[in-house]
Amino acid sequence: MLRTAMTTPNDHQPWRTMASRFHNTGVLLLLLCNAVAAANETESSVPSECDTKFPGDCHNKAAALQLKLIAIAAILVASMLGVCLPLFSRSVPALGPDRDLFVVVKAFASGVILATGYMHVLPDSFDDLGSPCLPEDPWSKFPFTTFVAMLSAIGTLMLDSMMLTSYNKRRPKVSSATVTGHDHCAVPQLDADGKDGREAVVLRNRIIAQVLEMGIIVHSVVIGLSMGASENVCTIRPLVAALCFHQLFEGMGLGGCILQAEYGMKMRGILAFFFAVTTPLGVVLGIGLSNTYRDNSPTALIVVGLLNAASAGLLNYTAMVDLLANDFMGPKLQGSAKLQLWAYVAVLLGAGGMSLMAKWA
Ligand SMILES: [Zn+2]
Repeated sequence: MLRTAMTTPNDHQPWRTMASRFHNTGVLLLLLCNAVAAANETESSVPSECDTKFPGDCHNKAAALQLKLIAIAAILVASMLGVCLPLFSRSVPALGPDRDLFVVVKAFASGVILATGYMHVLPDSFDDLGSPCLPEDPWSKFPFTTFVAMLSAIGTLMLDSMMLTSYNKRRPKVSSATVTGHDHCAVPQLDADGKDGREAVVLRNRIIAQVLEMGIIVHSVVIGLSMGASENVCTIRPLVAALCFHQLFEGMGLGGCILQAEYGMKMRGILAFFFAVTTPLGVVLGIGLSNTYRDNSPTALIVVGLLNAASAGLLNYTAMVDLLANDFMGPKLQGSAKLQLWAYVAVLLGAGGMSLMAKWA
C-alpha cells in the first residue's frame, strides 16, 4: 500500500516519454493489482477472518485429514505414556512415597500443573475473550478472563474447605486438631494418632486429583478441537509433535497426583484413560464439526474463553495451595533445607519445560 502511494506521483510527471509512460502504466497496473490483493488480504484478515476460513497454499483437506488421523494415534500413545509413567513408579524403590526423590518428582509435577494454568490456559482465555471477532461491548470493556479465573479460584477453595467440613462432621470423634485445615499445613498431615488423619489425607488427595483432572481436561479438549477443525497442513504438521510432548508432560503432572490419591487399579485406570482420550476425542470432534465449527465464531470464543478462564483459576489454586504450598510447608521439606532446594529446582524445571511448550500449543 505504501509502495503504491510513493510511486503514483511518478506517473503524472510530464517529462516522461510515451515509452516510459507506457512502461510506468504497466508498473502502476501491477502495483495496483498488488495493492488490491493486499487490501483484500488485510480486509479478510481482520473482520472477514471471523466468518470464513480463506483457503491458502496450506489448505489441503485430504492431507490434513491424514495428518489428523496420525495425530490421534500419536497423541493417545503419548498421553497414556505420560499419565502411566508415575503410576508405575511404585515398582521403583527409590520412588517410594516416603523417599526424598518422590518429593522432588512431585515438585516437578506441581510445576508442570502451575505452568499449565499460567502459561497455557490463562493466555488462551485472554486471546479468546479479547478477540477482535467479539463485540467490543462488553468483552473489551471488562477483564472477564481474570474475573472468572478469580471466581473459579474462590470456588475451588470453597469445594476444598467444604469437603473437609463434611468429612469432619461425619467423624465427630476426630479431634479438630487432627483435621483442621487452618494451620500452615493446609492438608491434614499424617500424624501419630493414625488412621483418621491418614484417611483424611487420602480423601483430600483424591479430591485434588479429580479437581486437577477437571481443570486439565478443558484445555486438552480445546487444543484437540482446534487441531481437528483446522485444514491448514502447515500448522497441523508441527502441531502433531508439539501436542504429543504437551500431553506427555501434562500426563506426568496429573499422573503424580493420581498416584498420591492412592486409588485402586480400576479408578486409576479410569482417570488415566479419561485424560488420555480427551485430546484425541477433541480432534475427532473437530473433524466431525470442521464444516460448522469455527475457532473464532463468537459462540466458540465465549464458551471456550470462559471455560479456559475457569480452569486457569482452578489450576492456579490447586497447584499453588494444594500441591506446592502443602508440600513446601509440610514437615518433610521444612525438615531439610537441602531437599527444599532440590525441590525448588524441580519446580522450576517442570514449570520451565511446560512454559517452553506454550510456544507451540
Ligand atoms: Zn497447552
